[in-house]
Order: sequence, then structure tokens, then C-alpha cells
Amino acid sequence: QFPFGRRLPCDIYWHGVSFHDNNIFSGQVNKFPGMMETVRKITLSRAMRTMQDLFPLEYNFYPRSWILPEELPLFVAEVRVMKDSDPSWKPTFIVKPDGGCQGDGIYLIKDPSDIRLTGSIQSRPAVVQEYICKPLLMDKLKFDIRLYVLLKSLEPLEIYIAKDGLSRFCTEPYQEPTLKNLHQVFMHLTNYSLNIHSENFIHSDSVNTGSKRTFSSILCRLSSRGADVKKLWSDIISLVIKTIIALTPELKVYYQSDIPAGKPGPTCFQILGFDILLMKNLKPMLLEVNANPSMRIEHEQELSPGVFENVPSPVDEEVKVAVIRDTLRLVDPQKKKRKDAQANICLCLPCPKGFTEFPCLYREGMKDKQHKHHSLKLSLKLKFYLKLGSCPSLEHVPESSESLLDAVPAERPEAAGPRGPEAGLPSLCLKQVFPKYAKQFGSLRLVDRVAALFIRFLGVKGTTKLGPTGFRTFIRNCKLSNSNFSMAAVDILYIDITRRWNSMGIDHKESGMCLQAFVEAFFCLAQKKYKSLPLHEQVASLLEFCEGHLAALDEKRLLWGWG
Ligand code: ADP
Repeated sequence: QFPFGRRLPCDIYWHGVSFHDNNIFSGQVNKFPGMMETVRKITLSRAMRTMQDLFPLEYNFYPRSWILPEELPLFVAEVRVMKDSDPSWKPTFIVKPDGGCQGDGIYLIKDPSDIRLTGSIQSRPAVVQEYICKPLLMDKLKFDIRLYVLLKSLEPLEIYIAKDGLSRFCTEPYQEPTLKNLHQVFMHLTNYSLNIHSENFIHSDSVNTGSKRTFSSILCRLSSRGADVKKLWSDIISLVIKTIIALTPELKVYYQSDIPAGKPGPTCFQILGFDILLMKNLKPMLLEVNANPSMRIEHEQELSPGVFENVPSPVDEEVKVAVIRDTLRLVDPQKKKRKDAQANICLCLPCPKGFTEFPCLYREGMKDKQHKHHSLKLSLKLKFYLKLGSCPSLEHVPESSESLLDAVPAERPEAAGPRGPEAGLPSLCLKQVFPKYAKQFGSLRLVDRVAALFIRFLGVKGTTKLGPTGFRTFIRNCKLSNSNFSMAAVDILYIDITRRWNSMGIDHKESGMCLQAFVEAFFCLAQKKYKSLPLHEQVASLLEFCEGHLAALDEKRLLWGWG
């Protein structure tokens, strides 16, 4: 233990909230820089919109969304046009404050004029989204799915999905939204933190019943009703990969700013919580991505009015312990495959309560120490045990094939189980899905390539915004200026787009053009140059054009260097 701060470099740093800590030069950190910002409701909606503009069919798993307040006129206008063209369309919308969680400040509306723009929560920037009116019900109740995803590396991209997750149930029977029931949160919102306060909430020690169940138990029920759960599972994998592909450009900009290439720094990994809603027709829809999913394995029980006690929650334990255990197995620096592993881990947790972030450590090694710590940051060197236990396997994850959609899900037991030093440990619950199925998703990574151009011209290390000189250099080096598009027009394009993005007031810390603004400028240039093609082909063509010129330039520079 290092009560006065960490002295020795660690193999793994387990931070409670974000990447940031004082100077880490080696090892692995369990958070990516900028992840919290990247998955906020507004930023996620923007990233998904960009992908929907490029690939509307591939990204139709995210509800149509508008950003408030700046897109309120657009929202009103688009809804009016859609209603005019289809008078039978009677939509409902859900308004969610940016940065909110646990259902905080969320409300449903039937008409754009019902948006509340005053009041402390309402005046916050928000996302308004088409409400999914026909969710899949179980026992007449709406539920959502929390799946755990490990982003093990950004470059190269490596994604793992936990084979089991949680299903969180509403506590009032579902009815399609009407003006009368719009306000009934226990009917429409699946948040555990809300429903736990309902008198109908059922704590259960079984993973198949109650208000929180394992996702595998839902799949079993669906399978027994004859539903195609293999297709459902591959749709979910596809949703997760596509969502992460939408997030990587922004994450790479943060990454190079916090951990500049060529300087000593740590590598990162992160467990993300994906919230997914199944529609009646079994199509999975993404609700949101959580950068800090709760890893609590206890729930509060009211012993007598007002008196609460934390009691173990077998459902949470079943799913979450496996996720953390497997994450540690996958990032184990020495790849030591022993039953009892030993490593140096630094925990930076917000408070002793933060042990809930790390339940298996807390339960296995920390119990008696919990009460001694009151410091805000805590560094520990400890021995942890990889807990033996059963790992519920969905057995629906395509394992043997490289093609996700053609894959025949494994109905057989997990091959022969792990061999060698890991024999005796449960087989991994985290399944690699990328690069395993990379082939089918390669063509979607256009914005990643736009981000690579952006990063190349950022120039100054540690920045996330492009200055006017950097933008001009990009235009010159890629030979994008000509008699129809003068350098004066380039400057105007830069000023127009940058001013608009900065006026949206997301990040005032740095001046200059942010990645999303650069992406917009790039799309604009692509449309100008390749008029008649669909947008994704315009962008792909411009990327090839730019990358070709830059490769030729690099070659020339190399030759001059040799000269
Ligand atoms: P929070 O971060 O506050 O939990 P979410 O985006 O997860 O916000 O929304 C809270 C709940 O509202 C979800 O768990 C889900 O039950 C419901 N919900 C959110 N968006 C939609 C939607 N577009 N259609 C139907 N239900 C939704």
C-alpha cells in the first residue's frame, strides 16, 4: 500500500472515473482519454448521425435524434414534413438531458411544442429522440439489456463482448404511449435506479425471474418460443462493432493529445456498458453507451421503512465478476496463465465506496480493509485471485467462422475448454469480435481515415483542434485548391464551419477547428469534387485522392532526406 501516493510504476492502473491521473508513463490504464466526453448523449448522437449520413441502412439501429437547443427548428420542421407526408404517423419523442444518467430529467412528449426549455434541468443541452413505441415485452413488461464490452485497444482495434449481460425490467405493465400514460416512468423507463423505488420491484436470487435478470435467461425464453436468437446475437455484435467504429475517430484525437506518439506513455483499455432495447420484431436498438458502467454486485434492501442494507445480488455477481476477471486475464501484462495470478495493480477510486467498481477484488482481498481507507485516492499492491466459478455461456456467439453473418453459432460445449495453465479457470466470457469479424466492417471506417488526416495536420502535440494554418496546409498538400476553389475560399470555409461549431459551445478550452467540424468540411469538399456519387463514395474518393497525394509527398520527402 502507498498511502502517500504511488511510488512505483504499476502494471495495471484501475481508475474509478477517468483516464486522468498524474503522469503515467507505462503500464495499462483501464480508461481511455476522452471516453466520457465521447459517449455523452450529444456527442454520441452526433457521431451516429455522421455515420447515418454515410451509411443510412447500416446505422438504422440508432433512433432518429436531434440536438437541443440548436436543432430545435430543424426538429420542428422535420416532424412537420413527416406528419404531412404520413398523417397516420403519431410519434412519441423522448427528451434526455446531455450528461444525464439514471433517467435523470428524462420525459416523453407527443409534439415538438411540448419541449420544456426553461427550468434548471430542462435548460441543459439535450437530445430529443424518436421513442421506440413497440418494444419487445416479457411478462407484459418493457426491459432493456446492459451488455459489457471491452475495448482492449484502439490501434489496432480490438473489441470483446461479454457473453452474458443484464436485463432490467420496468415495474408497471407496458402500454403504448398516450397522453395519459406519458408520465409513468415505471412503465416507460427501464432504469434500475428508478424502478427500485417501485413497490412492484422484485429482488430475486434467481437469474431467471425478478426485475433484474441475466440476458441469457431472456434468450432461453425467446429460444423456447421459437425466436431466432442466433440472428439476434449476431445483430447485437454488429451493433456493438458499428457503434465503436463511430466512436474511434474522436477517441483517436483525444488519445494522440494525451499520449503523444513517440513519447513514453501507458496503453489503455476500457469496459463499456451498452444499453440496448429490443423491438417487438427482435431488432436491437442502441440507447446509449456508458463509460463507467456500475460494477456493483450488491443491491439495497429496505429492511424496515427508511432502513437499508446492502445484500449480495447473485444476478449482478454472475455477470460482472466474470467481466472483470476476464478483462484482467486479457490484459495480464505477463500473460501469466495461472490459476492464482499475482500482479501489481494501482486502484484510484473516488472513495471507499468505489470498491463497488472492483467487486472481485473487494470481495476476495479487501473486505477487512475497506473501513480503514478514507483517502480520495488509494494505491494498493495486492494479490488477487481469479475466482473459480461457473460462467454462463450463451453459446450463441459465432466462434468458428470469420464471417459474422455466415457464422454458425457454437451449440457444442466450449471446444475442449482452456488448456495449459488456465485449465481449471472458467472459459473466457469475453469473446473477441474485432478483428475476428473485421472484414465485414472495413468499408465503414471512412471517418477513421478522415481523422487520420486531421491528426496529421494538427501539428502541435497535445492539441485537439486544427488551426487555420494547419487547414491551409492540408488543402495545399492534398492539392485541393484550384481555379474554382481559391485559397481565399478555403479560408472562408474554415471560418464558417469553425465559427458555427464553436458557437454550439461544447468545448471552449481551445480555439480552432474540432474533428466534427473538419469532418463536415471534408464532406463539403467531397460533395463539391464528386458531385453525382452517393455521399460515402464521394468521401471514399476524396480520401483516396488525399491519401495518394500525401503518400507521394512522403516519398519525395524521404528522397530529399536521403539526398
Ligand atoms: P440514462 O442515461 O438517463 O439512463 P437512457 O438513454 O439510458 O438515459 O434512457 C433511460 C431509459 O429510457 C432507457 O433505459 C429506456 O428504458 C428508455 N429509453 C431511452 N431512449 C429510448 C427510446 N428512444 N425509445 C424507447 N425507450 C427509450
